[in-house]
Formats: sequence, C-alpha cells, structure tokens
Amino acid sequence: MSDCIFCKIIKGDIPSTNVFRDKQVTAFRDISPSAPTHILLVPNRHIDSINMLTGEDEQLMGHLFTVASQLAMQENVAENGYRLIVNTGSHGGQTVPHIHLHLLGGAPMKHPMG
Ligand code: AMP
Repeated sequence: MSDCIFCKIIKGDIPSTNVFRDKQVTAFRDISPSAPTHILLVPNRHIDSINMLTGEDEQLMGHLFTVASQLAMQENVAENGYRLIVNTGSHGGQTVPHIHLHLLGGAPMKHPMG
C-alpha cells in the first residue's frame, strides 16, 4: 500500500531502527516507546488488521510470534516477562492500519488492561 507508513518503513523509504528482518517479518523500535523495550513486529506483506486474516495467513502470524519470542530473549526481557499486544480497529486503539505486534518489556506492565 503506497500510503501506508509501515509499508514505507519496510521498503526503507522512511527511517527506522530495525532490530530484525527476514522474508516475512520486519521488526523496529517504536518511535514513541511506552516501555523501556518497545518493538513493533510487522508482516512485510500489507494486511490492514486482524479482521482481514484468512487461513492462508496462519503460518505468517505464527512466525510473527516466534520472532517476538526470539526478540524478547535478544532484548533480555524474556526472563522477567513482557506483553504482546495487537490493537485492532478504532475501539482497539489501532492507529496504523497495517497489522503489528507490540512487544513491550523492561518494566512491570500495568494491569488490568482495557
Ligand atoms: P497502534 O496504535 O497499535 O496502531 O500502534 C501504532 C504504533 O506505531 C504507535 O505505538 C506509534 O508510536 C508507532 N509509530 C508510528 N509511526 C512510527 C514510525 N515512523 N516509526 C516507528 N513507530 C511508529
């Protein structure tokens, strides 16, 4: 999608601090971090939101979580724990319409959610 900010980051048209990249997924640091570690993991292929997923995306979404697990270890937040969030739609607080998994860690998370 030509006007999607995350597609532009994936293409390298907008600068980002990348921490991971493979054929399917790109991960970069959030520009406005909500925790000491705040990474966004995005599929390289544009998908608006969780609402648009089909059975063909199951391997991709599983891979997104596997990469999140690896990055949590790389960032040294795995042992103490972290939070993974996928905001969806306006009530879910999604502001960028390209699926992304927030990886938040490095401090205790607030609870309850919602
Ligand atoms: P969400 O509200 O779940 O859609 O999350 C979108 C996230 O993208 C927010 O946490 C923003 O801070 C982050 N964000 C927006 N633009 C950029 C950018 N250019 N580079 C890195 N993160 C960004």
